[in-house]
Amino acid sequence: TFVDQELSAAELERTFIAIKPDGVQRGLISDIIARFEKKGYKLVAIKLVHPTKDFAEKHYDDLKGRPFFNGLTDFLSSGPVVAMVWEGQGVIKYGRKFIGATAPLASEPGTIRGDFAISVGRNIIHGSDGPETAKDEIALWFKPEEILTYKKETDKWLYE
Ligand code: UDP
Ligand code: MG
Repeated sequence: TFVDQELSAAELERTFIAIKPDGVQRGLISDIIARFEKKGYKLVAIKLVHPTKDFAEKHYDDLKGRPFFNGLTDFLSSGPVVAMVWEGQGVIKYGRKFIGATAPLASEPGTIRGDFAISVGRNIIHGSDGPETAKDEIALWFKPEEILTYKKETDKWLYE
């Protein structure tokens, strides 16, 4: 039956999404969460954290050596961040579509960065760029027990 249906591996795909300090300060938390929620993705972990500089450097480890690295990690550690894990079929790639291009002026209207941001260094949201980074970023930001696996009645109306 519908209710007993197990979640498929695709539905269990997970991505790490963070609303950066500018998104929190500008009051965009609810708007950003609403987009993921209304699409049908499932929130499986969420917390408000003020990352340290050291933690921000770990998060952006792959960008070490880039000219903007210091400013970027200063910025990420400048205030509270909403850290989240979202789950669902195609969520990694579609999350990136939701977010838009790195430079907000190159992001399409309708995307989060396109609708709400101007500068590349104030682009309000982070999202994992692939399965490997998703795995690493989720493990960096969350303890396993902070991530919940649960069923929603609406799952059967979202997945065929
Ligand atoms: N960034 C920046 N200047 C640049 C490129 C990137 O300040 O020239 C910042 C920007 O905030 C971006 C973050 O560094 O979101 C991480 O860069 P990445 O290339 O991973 O972009 P993203 O995956 O966030 O789109
Ligand atoms: Mg990136």
